Amino acid sequence: QEFNFELLIRDLIEDLQRTTETHRLIEKYSPTGIVFADKERIGQVVTNLITNAIKYSPNANEIIISTSLKDHEVTVRVEDFGVGISIDDQNKVFEQFYRVKGEMQHTFAGLGLGLYISSEIIKREGGKIWVESTKDKGSTFCFCIPVHKETAIDSIE
Ligand code: ATP
Ligand code: MG
Repeated sequence: QEFNFELLIRDLIEDLQRTTETHRLIEKYSPTGIVFADKERIGQVVTNLITNAIKYSPNANEIIISTSLKDHEVTVRVEDFGVGISIDDQNKVFEQFYRVKGEMQHTFAGLGLGLYISSEIIKREGGKIWVESTKDKGSTFCFCIPVHKETAIDSIE
């Protein structure tokens, strides 16, 4: 399925902005153009990352979402200035049912499935998902997917 990538992101941001009064979703685009991927599932990943960013930055008010295109891959970065994740936990947050222990665990409801599902989706699309974070400073969740799925298959061969 082929779709305009930055348009999908823009629409999602618009929808999600309506659901929050506490945070401003800031879009930083560079043009990414047409992508061949599962639009609905990619949308689900972006939604998961943005809703997490909002949820885990109760004392911040900005989320920065950027897209870029390089070497036939599009990358999305969702940056928050919230609770952050320790190095130890950064390796684990993509596991099924994993939630970082602590205050947040009780303050915010969740199953610990959003990132697991997201990583499964991104794997299936031939991409990668990761996090860059500093405890108490904030987190940036990123993923990249090939513009054409064939690119991913090529690179394995
Ligand atoms: P849900 O299944 O509803 O998404 P969840 O948000 O707890 O529940 P995940 O989205 O998989 O589950 O995230 C797993 C854990 O990773 C969270 O419980 C939280 O501890 C941590 N986490 C995720 N996103 C962030 C973030 N942006 N900043 C800090 N911690 C985060
Ligand atoms: Mg979540």
